[in-house]
Amino acid sequence: MTAAKDQARGYDNLIGGEWVGSRDRIVSINPSNTADTVGSYAVATASDVGHAVEAARAAQEAWADATPQERSDRLEAIAAEIQSRREELAYQLSREEGKVLSESSAEVLKTAHVFRYFSGEAVRLSGEHVRSVRQSVDVDVVRRAVGVVGLVTPWNFPLSIPAWKTAPALAYGNAVILKPSELTCGMGWILAEILSRHLPPGVFQLLMGAGEVGAALCESPGVDAVSFTGSVSTGSRIAAAVHARGGRLQMEMGGKNPLIVMEDADLRLAVKYAIGGAFHSTGQRCTASSRLIVAAQIHDRFVAELLGAMRQLRVGSAVDPSSQIGPMVSEGQLRRTLDYIEIGRKEGAGLALGGERVDSILPGFYMSPTLFVGTSSAQRINQEEIFGPVATIIRVAGIDEAIATANDTRYGLSAGIMTNTLSHVLKFRKKIRSGMAMINLPTVGTDYHVPFGGSSGSGYGPKELGVAAREFFTATRTIYTAT
Ligand code: NAD
Repeated sequence: MTAAKDQARGYDNLIGGEWVGSRDRIVSINPSNTADTVGSYAVATASDVGHAVEAARAAQEAWADATPQERSDRLEAIAAEIQSRREELAYQLSREEGKVLSESSAEVLKTAHVFRYFSGEAVRLSGEHVRSVRQSVDVDVVRRAVGVVGLVTPWNFPLSIPAWKTAPALAYGNAVILKPSELTCGMGWILAEILSRHLPPGVFQLLMGAGEVGAALCESPGVDAVSFTGSVSTGSRIAAAVHARGGRLQMEMGGKNPLIVMEDADLRLAVKYAIGGAFHSTGQRCTASSRLIVAAQIHDRFVAELLGAMRQLRVGSAVDPSSQIGPMVSEGQLRRTLDYIEIGRKEGAGLALGGERVDSILPGFYMSPTLFVGTSSAQRINQEEIFGPVATIIRVAGIDEAIATANDTRYGLSAGIMTNTLSHVLKFRKKIRSGMAMINLPTVGTDYHVPFGGSSGSGYGPKELGVAAREFFTATRTIYTAT
């Protein structure tokens, strides 16, 4: 299908197997070049939400009753199509979200891998047969689909996050309604267009729009479960809505991820991972290394090398293969990040590099990679998620202070340590409070076959991906049989 034909069709919502238009539209623009319009997308109405829920309820039982082989084959076909269109999808992802092409290409591949992994999991779902504590009774614990699931997703991984919720939900027999971020409707639409050709009508539906559409979905009593990824503040509103009606809920939220650099760290690797973790994807990653906690003995050398490497970073259009750091996703996100630069300055942090809008490239939302030095843990720039290309340096005396500082936020998503000392590693493994811990690795970059998610304020409910996904997307039934 050509882009021109898609455009003529007007990028509508997918409801009950039909493309449904709307008077209200969201116009998505390319953050690397605001003169480029990505597309105009239909905003779902309250009645669209109601129709989508009805269609999902009508389709779900037959989908759950389809053989695991059929569900597996369909997911495999989706994986194959996504992988075969890798370059084209990566271009669209960079164009709409603003991450550079190499990162988009990796995201598209991961999306294909996730569908392929859950294609396998669809035929692997098993229950448990146990002896009863009583005579002449057998017990089986079987797993079944939860029903209709609503997915509310952010813009920063506009293909892979919807995929890593959709693929397990479908594998286990649920019907899915996706509400992608209003900033990346285009990628949500592309995913829906692919799935619409591989699935029966109503099994996967797309509702585009801003928070109101997400809220209507979360409030609907016909939605059995909601899986959300996004900010803590949206998460608390969603939790209130879903809990009020007794729905099932899973949430992955923000991070303020520390990378500890100890005195004996491999300096070259520590700098490389700090650069990748803090500035790639323009710092717009939930697992970004936004706090660099550095032992006093290596502090000055680390900061000097880091600043040297930061000066080499090429900020530019996301679709230019020579760019290393793309723009921020939107004017709002850029302003918010610049506000934090002011907050940091007022708090007395030292601005060692960056902190400015870059307007010499194309009309877009570019910002220079930024480093604050001489910061302290209590400052807002070390407590609040900035979600931009901004890192802070916190100097510490040793491993105990490093871990205590790393744990000193409301978040607990990912944490890393760079060291070659076994006792440091053992202490870090034991004491760090985060859902994911990285030893001599960046805080970013995770696998799809193991649990993903945060603790403390970063996550709520069962983890995502791997076998953990079945905890959320299936429900158990315990069956007693007289023998
Ligand atoms: P956001 O919370 O603003 O929006 C996320 C989604 O929620 C969007 O689709 C939005 O339209 C929707 N929404 C907004 N208000 C709503 C409401 N009242 N009811 C229902 N839905 C509503 O987040 P964002 O700016 O899109 O994404 C950035 C945030 O996501 C950051 O905090 C980042 O750390 C987090 N994130 C977390 C992970 C993770 O796995 N932990 C991964 C990626 C991003």
